[in-house]
Amino acid sequence: MEIAVFQRLMEQTYGKRNRGRGVPATVACLAEETGELARAARKGSAAQQLHELGDVLAWLAALANQLGLSLEDAAARYRDGCPLCSLSPCDCPP
Ligand SMILES: [Zn+2]
Repeated sequence: MEIAVFQRLMEQTYGKRNRGRGVPATVACLAEETGELARAARKGSAAQQLHELGDVLAWLAALANQLGLSLEDAAARYRDGCPLCSLSPCDCPP
């Protein structure tokens, strides 16, 4: 699924409900899910990691929708390689 299609799907599925909660609550949910992803990445199964990746993506799309911004536009920052050195793979010092 393309990122813009996913973002529209999240708007259709949760947009109204999430707007009712407000941006700070959405940011809190994104942070919470990011914490769960961090835990799953460290000691979860592949199925748990996939589950948490999906939740983080969903809340990221929800936040973008509430801010009126496009995840596709956000991803474009990396379209031409590393935004700092413009290379792919990146050649920035570690
Ligand atoms: Zn770089």
